[in-house]
Amino acid sequence: MYIDTHAHIFDEKIDKPFILDKNIQAVIVPSYNKDNLQKALTFCEYDKYFCCLGIHPQYADEFSKNIENFIINHIDKLVAIGEIGLDTRFNNFEKQIEAFGKQLEIAKVFDLPISLHLLGNNAFTTFFDMTKNKNYKVAMHCFSGSLQDAKKALDNGYYISFACNITYKGNVNLRKIVDYVPLNNILLETDSPSMLPAIFARKGVNTPNNIHYVAEKIAEIKHIDIEKVQDVTTQNAISLFNLNRSANI
Ligand SMILES: [Zn+2]
Repeated sequence: MYIDTHAHIFDEKIDKPFILDKNIQAVIVPSYNKDNLQKALTFCEYDKYFCCLGIHPQYADEFSKNIENFIINHIDKLVAIGEIGLDTRFNNFEKQIEAFGKQLEIAKVFDLPISLHLLGNNAFTTFFDMTKNKNYKVAMHCFSGSLQDAKKALDNGYYISFACNITYKGNVNLRKIVDYVPLNNILLETDSPSMLPAIFARKGVNTPNNIHYVAEKIAEIKHIDIEKVQDVTTQNAISLFNLNRSANI
């Protein structure tokens, strides 16, 4: 059984109701901006779905006291705060740090993990500075950092989540990181509807049913059985996001 730890399944590109393959045990649905907070939240009412709320760094300017209150008011329904983080591609970095800091604080106060988006060297450096010795529980979603970043993450006990981009021909270094990271620290995700597996040649829309492509690639890189990848990553997800407490699983 698989758990897709990061899928924006509410996206209008994905038909609803979306039928999950039988081997998908759970899907975690994070919001990323103010327009989809409510949409993401709706998913925790569905069987096999879990929700996290947060504002992605691209939309950091939208973060407000109202949104903070919205997240806190629904905190009992959430398995994480996310998708939150830092991204140097956008020119609102100061605002990102502020919004990220406040959302980290919510995670800390309510003892929830974070579904973390980091892109760019300075994003990783700033993140490690902001969270030093604070014992956050972290899923580093769609990991894109260096081996050095991966080592730092592992030193902190963080989980590293890999998506279908590990199947892309050019991502040789990323596959080296997959090889390096112990299976006990790995999560699987699709980041649907984007991040299609290479085999689709950029045609179509990604869904959680493609999660096996990530597992197959990890099994191939690590020379281990795919069942082992399934079992361990599923247990990792259950443990990080505390999914056992819910009747959904
Ligand atoms: Zn995402």
